[in-house]
Amino acid sequence: MLPEELCAALKEMGEPPFRAKQVFKWLSVPVRSFDEMTNLPKTLREKLEERFFLTAPIVERKQVSALDGTVKYLWRLYDGNHVESVVMRYEHGNTVCVSSEVGCPMGCAFCASTIGGKVRNLAASEILDQVLWAQADSGLKLSNIVLMGIGEPLDNFDNVVRFLKLVNEPDGMNIGMRHISLSTCGIVEKIDKLAALGLQLTLSVSLHAPDNETRSKIMPVNRAWDVDTLLAACRRYFDRTGRRISFEYAMIRDVNDTPYHARLLADKLAGTGSHVNLIPLNEVPESRLRPSTPEAMRSFIATLEKRNINVTVRRKLGPDIEASCGQLRREREELR
Ligand code: SAH
Repeated sequence: MLPEELCAALKEMGEPPFRAKQVFKWLSVPVRSFDEMTNLPKTLREKLEERFFLTAPIVERKQVSALDGTVKYLWRLYDGNHVESVVMRYEHGNTVCVSSEVGCPMGCAFCASTIGGKVRNLAASEILDQVLWAQADSGLKLSNIVLMGIGEPLDNFDNVVRFLKLVNEPDGMNIGMRHISLSTCGIVEKIDKLAALGLQLTLSVSLHAPDNETRSKIMPVNRAWDVDTLLAACRRYFDRTGRRISFEYAMIRDVNDTPYHARLLADKLAGTGSHVNLIPLNEVPESRLRPSTPEAMRSFIATLEKRNINVTVRRKLGPDIEASCGQLRREREELR
């Protein structure tokens, strides 16, 4: 609940506004039960316990990368479902990558999160929980959030927007929109809906190919909204919000990494000032797709740079604990 909603709910119970503020603060500590809210009268704690419930997840498993200190959490949710989150340590601050759905309906050929499809949306509180509990458990102050874990954030639009408001609250995590990135596979109607909110977050779009033939093969979403339709929505998004889009591009050997793809990508993005973030494909055992060779990467980058496209390569973090992009999953065979 947002502070004003909590205020209204408590008012109905005959409680003054300062109680709502106290409860909201406790929720961000966070706590697992109303009984831990020790500055509330016992009777109020009991009444809250009767009327509401807390979604607080349990750490089913925690893994720390021996290579870079990245931490991955497998959470057990209140209904027995699971999602994962990752805490990454960067010089500009610690970043948490959160999931937005239990599983994913989008079916991208290279991604582990979509195996077995989508089970359900996460509630706004369950997305927020990942930030709160990862910070509490890791002891690391989290200053940045990326919605790049399991699920398609724009497929769970209302809960995700609610989460953004919650995490932005001064009495809560107080994380500003400019410290939040949201990644989408390209649900065009929802990109427009997001644009209309005019939020100052960074929108990342998983492009992965500049042509429909290649993109439709690896991303079923492209059959609903093709490359040009998507790029037109990205332009509208920029016009409406003033925020430049960042394009994610996983480099897949002999699939989307040829000189043809590099040239076409440069053509399509020319003059947009957009940024391309190349992701060397991460291992997903169920998929036969392989990462590009270092030579293919180098030549792809050279082509983009020659055409004045801003390009970076995403650092691979936590590969030893399957914490890298596309490796998060709701089911872990070894824990069954
Ligand atoms: N559903 C959203 C959020 C996921 S973000 C989206 O599609 O954008 C995770 C990013 O990692 C996306 O850009 C996704 O396409 C990419 N990704 C998925 N599998 C990957 C893999 N095996 N290697 C590298 N990147 C991958």
